[in-house]
Amino acid sequence: MQGLSRPTPNGVAIRLDVPDRVEHLPGQHYLVRLTAPDGYTAQRSYSVASAPSDPLIELFVERLDDGEVSGYLADVLAVGDQLEVRGPIGGWFVWHGDSNAVCIGGGTGVVPLVAILRHAAAIGRAERIRLAVSARTLAELPYADELIAAGSLVALTREATADGRAAARLTADEFSGLIEVDATFFVCGSAGFAESASSTLVEMGVPSTAIRVERFGPSG
Ligand SMILES: Cc1cc2nc3c(=O)[nH]c(=O)nc-3n(C[C@H](O)[C@H](O)[C@H](O)COP(=O)(O)OP(=O)(O)OC[C@H]3O[C@@H](n4cnc5c(N)ncnc54)[C@H](O)[C@@H]3O)c2cc1C
Repeated sequence: MQGLSRPTPNGVAIRLDVPDRVEHLPGQHYLVRLTAPDGYTAQRSYSVASAPSDPLIELFVERLDDGEVSGYLADVLAVGDQLEVRGPIGGWFVWHGDSNAVCIGGGTGVVPLVAILRHAAAIGRAERIRLAVSARTLAELPYADELIAAGSLVALTREATADGRAAARLTADEFSGLIEVDATFFVCGSAGFAESASSTLVEMGVPSTAIRVERFGPSG
């Protein structure tokens, strides 16, 4: 593990040098496996935040209360440690760079969307990406500065934004402003966020075949 930073109160960004790495597509994830001295193992999925062109793989992990794996990664892992990973994984929630993408993320659900954003910039297609992201507070939003710089719509549910948007979930009006014919919609977040956002898109006439959903739930 080559680099580690703590950009949010509960989040850690981990940069890994993966030997014999297979290039990922934005949206894919890795499995991280921890093994205790007694042989007990636990593994969890973490989306890649970095672009394929980045020589390192970047993951962003939010520490959950009593979280077995996230607690270790956020509090114990140190630069220079070895981590067992497998990936990249996933063939559906991926952006190939050849379509317009509307990216809607809640909390750590923004992580794979950041990979899409970074890849779009790297291949000179930033104009293909539209973003709407949600978090409780700005401090808790992973990659907040990068998302804002890319023109992302930011919805905070516990505080107003600097530009005066009152605390609220993404509204119907905000969703309707995102609708774009021929775009692929990438929705990522908790099960509740993903269900609500994808149902709203369908109610607004987006064909379900144009919507790709990734749920970050306990079953992951
Ligand atoms: C495809 C995929 C990609 C993912 N990418 C990321 C990522 O980029 N960053 C990231 O931080 N997480 C991501 N996750 C979630 C991650 O895999 C783990 O579920 C999360 O880190 C919790 O693991 P844990 O071992 O710390 O918690 P556990 O020990 O498994 O659970 C601790 C407690 O938290 C609850 N819990 C577990 N997982 C979640 C969750 N995701 N949301 C809310 N409550 C939960 C459990 O029910 C339990 O009460 C992803 C999940 C999937 C399926």
